[in-house]
Amino acid sequence: MAYTVPKLKDFSPAALDNAARELLSALEREAAQTGSADQRKSFRDHWLGRKDGILAQMNQLWLKAAPKEAKREVGQRVNQLKAEVEQKVEAALTKAANVTTTPSLDISLPGIRRQLGAEHPIIRTMHEIVGVFKNLGYSVAEGPVVETDYYNFEALNFPPNHPARDTQDTLFLANQEAKPRREQLLLRTHTSPVQIRTMEKLKPPIRIVIPGKVHRNDPPDASHSPMFHQVEGLAVDTNITFGDLKGTLDHAMKALFGASVRTGFRPSFFPFTEPSAEMFVSCFICGGSGKRGPDPCRPCKQTGWIEILGCGMVDPNVFEFVKQNGYDPEKVSGFAFGMGVDRIAMLKYGLDDLQLFFQGDVRFLQQFA
Ligand SMILES: [Zn+2]
Repeated sequence: MAYTVPKLKDFSPAALDNAARELLSALEREAAQTGSADQRKSFRDHWLGRKDGILAQMNQLWLKAAPKEAKREVGQRVNQLKAEVEQKVEAALTKAANVTTTPSLDISLPGIRRQLGAEHPIIRTMHEIVGVFKNLGYSVAEGPVVETDYYNFEALNFPPNHPARDTQDTLFLANQEAKPRREQLLLRTHTSPVQIRTMEKLKPPIRIVIPGKVHRNDPPDASHSPMFHQVEGLAVDTNITFGDLKGTLDHAMKALFGASVRTGFRPSFFPFTEPSAEMFVSCFICGGSGKRGPDPCRPCKQTGWIEILGCGMVDPNVFEFVKQNGYDPEKVSGFAFGMGVDRIAMLKYGLDDLQLFFQGDVRFLQQFA
């Protein structure tokens, strides 16, 4: 309820003091509730309005109504009070106007700091591997994750119905039965299709390194995931030999795992290389001894060696698919290699569960930031 000036019966100084106190505290209350421009206007009208504002009421109800003998005293007090009211109303209006036009900004409050992101340990490992080959003059090539059967298998010397296809449990896209086999879409099972795509675009010589995400129908467990990462490399030129492959990869492994690691090769089979090999590095955890103090070294299964990648000389059958772009198997030769980034990251960071990388638990990932 807005304040109104009461009629006085008693015009003694004490009664006037009392009435003045009530009036001023009403003024303070109403001033505190004044904010918007509309509120400021009605506040001013209520107190200073000429016709029936509080000041006019004071004239009417206190000064004019005062008995003759008290007039002088009441007049002085009312005039004093009017001056005070005018001054307080103006001050309150100025304050309210400033508060509403200035946005409230408390610069003493600490701000909300956004946490900085960091490279995921898998991506960091991938960049490290790619960096080693970039320093050797390799350029980076990338390709689609959804591939055709042709690039993922056929052009890499996996003929239709070849048993080697069974080793890569493939995720095909649905409802493609009407398409010819080589056009059917799948999630690439390796980064190798980018070898073909690059050789179709660039004439030899080439040296490329291919990082990327691949998929296979493997149920997730401590060492498998339906999605994982590879880095693959390809060098094609005239007179590339198995010696070049060994020298390049030996250098790369020393750059990645330290100058003291030794490397070894064991014959293997891949459809797109001939001859093919698996490459081993001496265990960089136990130094090749197979033991960690009195305990067996688990990462190398006590052998002192860790299988790290697959490699080989590019099969001439693969060159046949890109022969028209200058890759005549009679004239050029090359080597290729591929490694699983996730496993290397596990070894590097001493993890025994691959799933930790993909669960998105910030508490785990923060350790690598
Ligand atoms: Zn070991």
